[in-house]
Amino acid sequence: MSTVPNDNKVILITGASSGIGEATARRLVNQGHRVLLGARRVDRLQALAEELQGTGGQIAYRALDVTDAADFQAFAAHAIATFGPVDVLVNNAGVMPLSPLSAGRLDEWDHMIDVNIRGVLHGIAAVLPAMEARGQGHIINVASIGAHVVVPTGAVYCATKYAVWAITDGLRQESSAVRATTISPGVVDTELADHIRDADAREAMASFRRIALRADAIAGAIAYAIAQPREVDVNEVIVRPSAGTGA
Ligand code: NDP
Repeated sequence: MSTVPNDNKVILITGASSGIGEATARRLVNQGHRVLLGARRVDRLQALAEELQGTGGQIAYRALDVTDAADFQAFAAHAIATFGPVDVLVNNAGVMPLSPLSAGRLDEWDHMIDVNIRGVLHGIAAVLPAMEARGQGHIINVASIGAHVVVPTGAVYCATKYAVWAITDGLRQESSAVRATTISPGVVDTELADHIRDADAREAMASFRRIALRADAIAGAIAYAIAQPREVDVNEVIVRPSAGTGA
């Protein structure tokens, strides 16, 4: 395992049970950071933590539902108790049940708003006061290319990602102590599209995902932002597949 001398950070990652979150955890633990994994599927977190502990990694996990503000507070407290003050929060958890507005899937709209927007805000609320008090910290929010471009069936999902973009830029402007980064991936090969119930959206997404990036490509962008010197704030990284023209 390689280490990062004098730059061993305490990093929280939400949505670490699969996809981009899992790949980010692997990369950051292998770089020598101390990482707390959060998601609802604890069995997945446990398997990942045990695997990386086996290679000498400093990694822990805790069940987390980002839609529950109190649970997120407890998650941050668990990181402090386990590793010390939080240096970086990676707000990565997200859901994408695409459908046209005419389908009227109110439950899915609410769920996207709860996870993708409220979840990010719950994370900020859980770590920002302590970061401000310490005069340092880094909050990284995973948005999407959908924070820049709206597509049919993606109205609500893209709206949540526009919101993530706006929240992160607002944080950047309000806080000189805390670095704020938006990571905006194009299409990535993960489990994200597995939960689309609308048949047309599901079919469109299947062909769209043929050029998908590996999740580690996004982990690399997150690691890059974290690795910059304290006075350097990488505000946004957009990462698309070379082969794509749009998202
Ligand atoms: P995955 O579906 O593989 O991962 C999503 C993660 O979010 C899972 O670990 C899931 O864990 C977690 N999650 C979902 N709901 C909750 C919740 N209520 N509380 C805690 N964790 C939750 O997809 P990706 O890795 O692709 O998604 C990661 C992020 O990347 C998302 O924000 C997504 O919008 C964004 N993104 C992805 C793109 C892609 O093409 N894949 C493109 C652009 C952006 P669990 O179910 O165990 O709780």
